[in-house]
Amino acid sequence: MVDVPARTGLLIDGVVEHRDRTLAVHEPWTGAHLSDQAIADPEDVDRAVAAGHRVLRTPLPLHERAAILDRTADLVLRDAEHLAGLIALEAAKPMLAARAEVQRCVQTLRFSAVEARTLHDRTVPLDAHPVGVGAIGFVRREPIGVVAAITPFNFPLNLTAHKLGPAIAAGCPVVCKPAERTPLSAVALAERFVEAGLPPGWLAVLTGGGPEVGGVLARHPGVAAVSFTGSAAVGAILSRDAAHAEVLLELGSAAPLVVEADADLVEVVAAAVAGGFTHAGQSCVSVQRLLFHETIAEDVTQRLTERVAALRVGGPLEPGSDLSCVIDATAGDRIRSWVARTVDAGGRLLVGGGGSGAVVEPTLVTDVPLDAPLWTDEVFGPVIAIRTFGSTDEAIAAVDAGPPLIHIGVFTRDLALAGRWIGAVRAGGVLINESPTFRVDHAPYGGVDHPGTTREGPASTVRALTDEKLVVIRPSAGRADPW
Ligand code: ADP
Repeated sequence: MVDVPARTGLLIDGVVEHRDRTLAVHEPWTGAHLSDQAIADPEDVDRAVAAGHRVLRTPLPLHERAAILDRTADLVLRDAEHLAGLIALEAAKPMLAARAEVQRCVQTLRFSAVEARTLHDRTVPLDAHPVGVGAIGFVRREPIGVVAAITPFNFPLNLTAHKLGPAIAAGCPVVCKPAERTPLSAVALAERFVEAGLPPGWLAVLTGGGPEVGGVLARHPGVAAVSFTGSAAVGAILSRDAAHAEVLLELGSAAPLVVEADADLVEVVAAAVAGGFTHAGQSCVSVQRLLFHETIAEDVTQRLTERVAALRVGGPLEPGSDLSCVIDATAGDRIRSWVARTVDAGGRLLVGGGGSGAVVEPTLVTDVPLDAPLWTDEVFGPVIAIRTFGSTDEAIAAVDAGPPLIHIGVFTRDLALAGRWIGAVRAGGVLINESPTFRVDHAPYGGVDHPGTTREGPASTVRALTDEKLVVIRPSAGRADPW
């Protein structure tokens, strides 16, 4: 039994405020009403940003930032089962995966604490230039200002932690607008930041609709950075809306997994099933496109089809569920229609393709044309598209026919071939004998060729949320070797 709050308020300047205007949160699996979230209005955005500007004048020392982040991690660990239950219910994520997300959140916070403890920059040897002789130079990293964090539904706890943790480590007040379908995990994380001793003003949570609350927040002139994870369409809107600010975008992809002729097929099948169907394929690096060398294609396709046919779709709290439903019926209809269009275009359905409402059967389609939707766009559902290739050149061309990449996985035991893939593809990460879904939270993570793309991971995000400030000191005029 998960203890779900009947309603959630806004967190502004250390106070939880309830509102008459609310937006319902539903459980995707049952459709049942879960909770009501307050809807923030433009005045709330003003107040949250103003509180951030106020506290910026009195920076939190690094040791306090680190201690707060570590204590928050401890509290997340203390309440792990409760938080996993919230994720499971609001995002339809089976408990096994929800528990894993909670543990990742702990790591994200701990690595953010590490960044707070070690935040530093470099000295500048000014006398490398004749006019610098006699002066001392170094670079300080200063908080960029108030950060707007806009988060998606698919990892409602850990992706919120990826925005709040590094912002606090960097010394930036942060105003968070969680996904309106999954606000409960973000609110719960904010409560633990407060319990951990984060003083008022450093963190605000403004719930409500995307354009209504997120749009007002992103356009606010007092916001110095907008950190967003979500769809390419909204990312494009934010690039325009937040032109006055630094815009950090984490957008989607259609991750490929390439299987060369010498690959270990047992490992490949395990990686494809876990990477393609965990959380019903709703991750930016879910395995969406499988490329099999023609010599092993028949064998591996058969093994994979058997495994996928045996996957169990069920409620997120049911222990036997391998995956649950997708986020809502609209997403379910869209995913099934993409499968149907791909089959109409010449793809061959191996398993799945059906379902109703938010329930989408785990699906494999092979012989997928390069211009079919399952190859060219992010499906964000439990569906894998398969193609075979005769040469590595052909496989590289097929990868390039899809959208910009975050991660690509390549299975081969041949080091030279691995080296070729590492050099040949433009991607945020190339993973050899690993699924593209692999992610550890301290590693730099992100895509290429999207507008505004940066890297996520506490070290990278802290750099993005801090400005370099050059300090030059001339101890005394004419002194040649200062200090
Ligand atoms: P998804 O719902 O697939 O996770 P979206 O890109 O639609 O991806 O939403 C991600 C986040 O962006 C959510 O918090 C949503 O409320 C927010 N959002 C949606 N539209 C806008 C907008 N026009 N301006 C700012 N934020 C938005």
